[in-house]
Amino acid sequence: MRFVPRFTDGQEFPHALGKVVCIGRNYADHAKELDNPVPSEPLLFIKPATAAVSMEEVIDAPFSRGEVHYEIELALLIGEELSHATADEAERAIVGIGLGLDLTLRDVQTRLKEKGHPWEVAKAFDGACPLTPFLPLSRVPNWNALSFQLEINGEPRQHGEGSDMLFPVPTLVAEMSRHFTLQPGDVVLTGTPSGVGPLPRGASLQMTLTGGLEITTRVVE
Ligand code: ZN
Repeated sequence: MRFVPRFTDGQEFPHALGKVVCIGRNYADHAKELDNPVPSEPLLFIKPATAAVSMEEVIDAPFSRGEVHYEIELALLIGEELSHATADEAERAIVGIGLGLDLTLRDVQTRLKEKGHPWEVAKAFDGACPLTPFLPLSRVPNWNALSFQLEINGEPRQHGEGSDMLFPVPTLVAEMSRHFTLQPGDVVLTGTPSGVGPLPRGASLQMTLTGGLEITTRVVE
């Protein structure tokens, strides 16, 4: 069954999700914590539709394959087809904002990176992208004023500010659309701030996004 994005009022988006387009390093402090250089152009990758799951269900990840890292990210729901879009067009095509976890098999990824191999299997596995419902957007928000956070078992772990993104939302989505046509129902993940770490089994996760989104979920034991 295809994953269909939902709004916070429970309404389903009329298109199923086709893919999730992500950026590897969009916050200087996170690039630094993983010893990665700050990129001059965005490092893009894709999670397939089969990676998307609802954040309202428990998070089940392939723990048998090594550490599964959490990365909380601002998620954008795309409402119109975008190809070689301008920043303006890209911005107007966003119909919802929410939060997503870019779950990453970090041990697997590190091994693949060392060999210079693609790290698809570390990021694109089934369930690798839990998504919250989306707050509907009737107009373009002030991206710089957006902030979000992740608490694990009541402790603050990650805090992101739109104003800290190396590639701001309109520029980022426009750039993505030069490589991959974005279609209605696709989701964009905008990169994670510092504070990533292994997802503890059995943990409770609380996520908040300015504008009134608050979600609690749990990791399987
Ligand atoms: Zn990420």
